[in-house]
Amino acid sequence: MRYADEYWVETMTHASTNSYPKRVAKPGRVDLMPEEFNNLIEDQGIMVRIIPAVLCPNRTGLYDTNHKLDCPLCFGDEVIDIRCKAIEDWAYVQGIKLDKNFEVQGVWDVKDAQITVRAGVRLYYAYKIEIIDFSSVFNQLLNRGIGDTDRVRYNPAPDCDTPYYLVDSAGINYELNIDYKISDYQIRWLGINRPATGKLYSFTYPVLPTFRVVELIHENRYYYKAFRQSKKTPVQLPQQAIIKLDFLSKGSGSNIERTP
Ligand SMILES: [Zn+2]
Repeated sequence: MRYADEYWVETMTHASTNSYPKRVAKPGRVDLMPEEFNNLIEDQGIMVRIIPAVLCPNRTGLYDTNHKLDCPLCFGDEVIDIRCKAIEDWAYVQGIKLDKNFEVQGVWDVKDAQITVRAGVRLYYAYKIEIIDFSSVFNQLLNRGIGDTDRVRYNPAPDCDTPYYLVDSAGINYELNIDYKISDYQIRWLGINRPATGKLYSFTYPVLPTFRVVELIHENRYYYKAFRQSKKTPVQLPQQAIIKLDFLSKGSGSNIERTP
């Protein structure tokens, strides 16, 4: 870019001949083609599961943010996932630190990432994003209940080479499929060899990398398809969002019960 302002032209000291070669090739036609963008995401992207979420209504009123830690609806997440409405599609996910542009919008943790989905795929605040086909590790503290099962936060990812570690507060290790089994968000204790009731234990297990949408970047970005068409057709362009690791994304901190 050059400034055409006369003052600057007059006072500039030219250190060169101020002569530039002409471009040989013309830039050609540049089109924004949503279909090609979709194809690019399919080609470069990874498979994700997008699960809509709504605010947990199990609160004491509209005018405070009281919410119980052991809420039986959302288990303290403060949002309820609508798993029956989940979709699976290609999406492009990249670490936010790779793209300096986004630093102008705030300070982002390294656990933040940016997701781009194909046109027509809906993202919204608190939607859960699970990255399929890859695994991560989650370390959770659990309280040993009175029955044979304890509920874990994430469904352990199957077919994964990540090991399981389970250690109780006395330092005793327990083995998967010998002392306990895992299935559908549960640890099922098999025999008498188990942590003491009411004591905490540490459980490390494989999970799908799981994120929440925390910021929408291109929520409302539209386009009209009109070239060689009899009328203009509105098209919503692919959405982009900032996502954060699910267990780090809860922002309200309202799990502490307040006295009335
Ligand atoms: Zn709740």
